[in-house]
Order: sequence, then structure tokens, then C-alpha cells
Amino acid sequence: MKNNSTPFVHFFKTHKANYIYDFNTNAILKVNSDVYDDIQQFVETGELNSTCPDSKEVISSIQRQGYLNSFRWKEILHPASKLLPYYLDNCMQMLTLQVTQACNLRCAYCTYSGNFVNRHHSNVRMSYDTAKKAVDFYIKHSTNTDKLNFGFYGGEPLLEFELIKNVIEYIEKNSEGKEKGYNLTTNATLLNEEIVSFLQEYDVRLTISIDGPKEIHDKNRIKKDCSGSFDTIIENIKMISEKFPSYGDKVMFNCVLDPRNDFGCINEFFTNYEGINGFYSSFAHIAKEYIINDVYDTAEEYSKQYDYEVFKLFMSKIGRLDKKHVSKIVEAYYLNIKNAMIDNRPVTAGMAKIGHHGGPCIAGMHKLFVNAQGDFYPCEKVSECSEAMKIGSIDSGFNQDKIYQLINIGQLTENQCKGCWAAKFCYLCALFADDSGNLSIDRKMFYCKQVRENVEQQLKEYCLLKEMNFDEEDVYIL
Ligand code: SF4
Ligand code: SF4
Repeated sequence: MKNNSTPFVHFFKTHKANYIYDFNTNAILKVNSDVYDDIQQFVETGELNSTCPDSKEVISSIQRQGYLNSFRWKEILHPASKLLPYYLDNCMQMLTLQVTQACNLRCAYCTYSGNFVNRHHSNVRMSYDTAKKAVDFYIKHSTNTDKLNFGFYGGEPLLEFELIKNVIEYIEKNSEGKEKGYNLTTNATLLNEEIVSFLQEYDVRLTISIDGPKEIHDKNRIKKDCSGSFDTIIENIKMISEKFPSYGDKVMFNCVLDPRNDFGCINEFFTNYEGINGFYSSFAHIAKEYIINDVYDTAEEYSKQYDYEVFKLFMSKIGRLDKKHVSKIVEAYYLNIKNAMIDNRPVTAGMAKIGHHGGPCIAGMHKLFVNAQGDFYPCEKVSECSEAMKIGSIDSGFNQDKIYQLINIGQLTENQCKGCWAAKFCYLCALFADDSGNLSIDRKMFYCKQVRENVEQQLKEYCLLKEMNFDEEDVYIL
């Protein structure tokens, strides 16, 4: 029977080896099968009854080094909780303005298309006055921030190009001495030379949404008259390459992957299509959690092709395949593993009494999304119709109690999180708990199984990569 006095660990295997993830130190132990079985039995029964003397010795040695501790968090509290007022007053890092809720396209999966819960296209535009107030608020609350980052978001933000121009000019006048960065996310159908020339002048990073070759892109990204938008976008990209070649390094593409499409075709497009292949691209799957009915449909063939590309990526990482054969789409997959397992997995000696699962940003500080009416939200991904996600407004400022609640979303599922081996890798923030304006335990717990499966998969793949590069040893601390 598992209890709280046995090691707080998680067991997993690859084809070649046995591993134990040690929650308290964040270390991964590679052990032989006797040790693995004995520790597993210890966790299950609460007793360490090894019949193998070697195994007993190895387990004692691991324990002496500080691993296999049974300690669990006593309290769930986000590390930023105590200093939250200070962070919100002085350290804001990014402001995104929703300059309009209108769009000239009707993408099937867009959060404003009507296929999603809680969001619909409207003609609400941000006034210049609201934009100025939001900029002033940001400048006032970022005295300890070296660089100011501004994003322009829609609907389609270029419908409000005049407003964007005026706002950037206002920012430049009112934030002298600070470094600035600008981002704009667009469907690229409204770009013209005048706009690109302005964007180039202010080094605005441009993220263009494109989903693959014409036959795939035009299925989802359609104009109001139901015609596709691909040809217009390609023409505009060509215009940038020909007339503003030095602006190219500020342009990137963002692709929404729809599993009903042919993965090979999309992959081929981003790897070889002239005019696209030279730019950086990022990829995200269609978010299924907001969709009302059957827009999302998993396709087996798509998964198979995707997994094969992951396999090729692994082959390239161990020098068995030339990098040029690796899909751009799955490159991000490797970076995720690297990010989670190497960069964000400090192995520690001490055990904390208080902690919070991974996931939540410091809402308002890391990012502040101001919608067209001047209401505050943590980011562009959350629903603007959700009362739970509204963290203030241009007139009332930050609602610190609500922000405290959002960053401490782990307290909603406190008991489950205290006993969850995957907590340090968890990626659930309040967005995943939002159920039509209420923070719901059930809604959040719905995603937990998936989180643990994904984390275990990442652990396995990380160890697999290590196996390919490292020599065999009885116990290896990764
Ligand atoms: S998705 Fe969640 S963690 Fe990410 S920025 Fe938005 S609110 Fe913060
Ligand atoms: S997966 Fe669920 S139980 Fe585990 S830490 Fe995340 S929210 Fe908590």
C-alpha cells in the first residue's frame, strides 16, 4: 500500500534500462532491475525487503546520497505570492493590445470564429485613448524592467494600422531611454508597402499565420466570401522578400496544425517551399479544449507520420541522419524536451516545504493583455468572457486578489498536487481550470492524466537520448 512515508518517486522504463524519477531532488536514477523492483516494492508495501545483498547495498548508498526521500510539499503556494504587489507595481514585462476584435478572415478554428465557446467576432475597436492609458499604465509599472515589450493583436490588428502607428509613435515619445521591442501577429492579407516600411522602421517583429500549402491553408483560413487567403499571403511575402529584404529576419511564420490534414504535405511545404523555407516557423496543434463540436478529429495516419519524423530527429541527434532531413515541425519537440529536462530541471539537495506546480505565469507581470474595451487579462489565450480571468481594467488597475488566486491555481487542487510526482513539470495554469468564468476543480483535473502521460514520455525520451550517448553503469544519476 502506498503511503506518505515511502519514497516520493516515479518509475519508468525504456527498452534498455530502468529509471526512477526522484521528486525531492529532481534527479533521475538509472538502476538495474533488482534495485528497481526492490524500490518499487518498498513504495508499494512500505517495507524494504531485498533478498539480493548487492541491491540492498546499492539502495542504502542511494539513500545516503539524499535520494528516495518521502518528503511532500506541506503547503501549495506560488513562489511569487509574497512579493506579488512589488512585481505588479514595478516589473511588468509585456503589454499586448487587442487593437480590434474584428477580422477580415473567418478561420474555422479561430477563437473568434464562432466555433469556439465564449468568443465571437465583433466590431469593437480599441480607442486611441484606451491604448494610451494602457501604455501609460505599463510604463508606470515597469520601472525595474530593462526592455519594454509591446504586442499588437486582434482580430486582425492591421485593420487598425493607423491606431498602431499612433500608439508606437506615442510609446517612442514617452519611454525615452528604454529599449523597446514590438510584435505584431497578422494573417498577412492586408500587408502593403506602406505598412511594411513602417514596421521595418520600428523593427516590429511580424508573426504571419500560415498553415501549409494552398490546398491545406485554404481549407481553414477563408475570407468572408469563403475564398481562400493563401494566394494573397504568398504575394505579400514575396513583396517583403523583394522590396524589404533586410526586414526578412523580423518575419516568422506560425502554423496551426490540424491533424485531419496530411502531415507530409505540411512538412514538405515548410521545408522546401521557396519564400517560406528561409524563415523561422513555429507550430501549434489546434486547441481542442474550446471547441464546441467536431472541429477537432484525431487522425491515426497523421500521428504515425509525426512519430516517424520524431524518430528521424532522434537519429540526427545521435549523428545517424543528416540534419537536413529533419522536419522543422518536430524540431520544437526536441527543444521542449531539452527545455523541460535539462534547462528547467535543476537537481537539488534540499527539500522544500512549500511549493507550487509548474505552469502559471505571474499574471499581469509576465504579460498583460488589454482587450479593446480596456479590460485586463493574463494573456491572449484566455477567454475575455471569463470573469475569473479578468484581472482588472484600465480604470481600476490590477485586481491583486484575483491575480493571487490565478497564480496559486494549485491551491484549487491542493491535495492532488501535493501527491503528484509530475508537479514540477506540470504546465497547467488557470486557463485550464476556467469553466465558463468559474475556476473549476473538475475542469483542471480533466487535464492531469494527460500532463502525467506527457511528462513521462518526455522523461523516457530524454533518457533514451542519454542512453544513446552514455556508457552503461549500474546507477547513473542523470
Ligand atoms: S497560457 Fe497561462 S501561463 Fe501562459 S501566459 Fe497565459 S495565463 Fe500565463
Ligand atoms: S498534473 Fe494535476 S495533480 Fe499534477 S501537479 Fe498538475 S494540476 Fe496538480
